[in-house]
Amino acid sequence: MNRVYNFSAGPAVLPEEVLDIAKAEMSDWHGSGMSVMEMSHRGKEYLSIAEKAEVDLRDLLAIPANYKVLFLHGGATLQFAMVPHNLMRGKGTADYINTGTWSKKASAEGKLYGKVNVAASSSDTNFTTVPPQESWKLNPEAAYVHYTPNETIGGVEFSFVPETGAVPLVADMSSTILSRPIDVSRYGVIYAGAQKNIGPAGLAIVIIREDLIGHAPAGSPVMLDYKTHAENQSMYNTPPTYAWYISGLVFAWLKKIGGLGVMAEMNQRKAGKLYAYIDASGFYKNPVEIASRSWMNVPFTLPKEEMDADFLAGAKKIGLLNLKGHRSVGGMRASIYNAMPEAGVDALIAYMKDFASRHNG
Ligand SMILES: *Cc1c(COP(=O)(O)O)cnc(C)c1O
Repeated sequence: MNRVYNFSAGPAVLPEEVLDIAKAEMSDWHGSGMSVMEMSHRGKEYLSIAEKAEVDLRDLLAIPANYKVLFLHGGATLQFAMVPHNLMRGKGTADYINTGTWSKKASAEGKLYGKVNVAASSSDTNFTTVPPQESWKLNPEAAYVHYTPNETIGGVEFSFVPETGAVPLVADMSSTILSRPIDVSRYGVIYAGAQKNIGPAGLAIVIIREDLIGHAPAGSPVMLDYKTHAENQSMYNTPPTYAWYISGLVFAWLKKIGGLGVMAEMNQRKAGKLYAYIDASGFYKNPVEIASRSWMNVPFTLPKEEMDADFLAGAKKIGLLNLKGHRSVGGMRASIYNAMPEAGVDALIAYMKDFASRHNG
């Protein structure tokens, strides 16, 4: 077997150790004689898997007891609708912070349910900055404030947690959850699609303060109501059982390496190296203001667009894959999530140096 370094933005690299465990357990989980995929979600074996995953996630993030953890279908994108559906609560208006592609998509869904007040936007810098909190025009009557702590496409990450007083703060943490410790009590809702830093695509994890559950409009479809999922331990219908299981293995792996404090140090070191090299290279460029550079997604450009294809082909030849930037930004993007080993970042930097020297860098 020959594993590559996969810099994909998502679905993304998973820890090799996790894949090895899944492989060993594939056709006979712990003597059950069946794969996790084949188990009833209501059987005691699967329930033990599901419960352990939640316990480990609560432990990793120190989730307070008055928060529910939900394992849902539909990825982060369904949460763009479920959040306003459940949280507008007759207020009819919500604040959104616009820092790029994903926050824009979230606010577009919010508009289906009420008035969206764009309380701050970094469109004036072409989404290469995070607007400082002092400049925000928050509405004290808003049902909630929604923001995207890490913009996966632009590579822009908040270096602070917004202060929203009594108005619940909602965060789309898809591409940054578990990259470092966070204070969950600062949030009303945290949600994340799994395929960046958690596990397989299709699963979304929602961490929600209990008082925000139970406010969906009367006559809601059951699957769109957080209450349905909270009251049924995310098993109102068949949950994405295998994705939940793999996510549980990832949580166990994170605990084994020492938890999110250790993970944060590793991530900071990986990102720090890569940005330091880009800035010093005089060849590659990253457009994001230094304080708001993402630890997880590092976009960079080459001096000439004509070099891109050559760069990608050479990278692929030595097992550095999926470095092509998003079509809306161009250039390259290296996604270096939790599961990307530091050796992968080192290999990328070595290749970038070599490429630059061959192109008069
Ligand atoms: C990937 C991503 C999404 C979309 O996730 P899906 O699971 O595909 O719905 C939403 N928000 C952010 C910040 C993302 O990175």
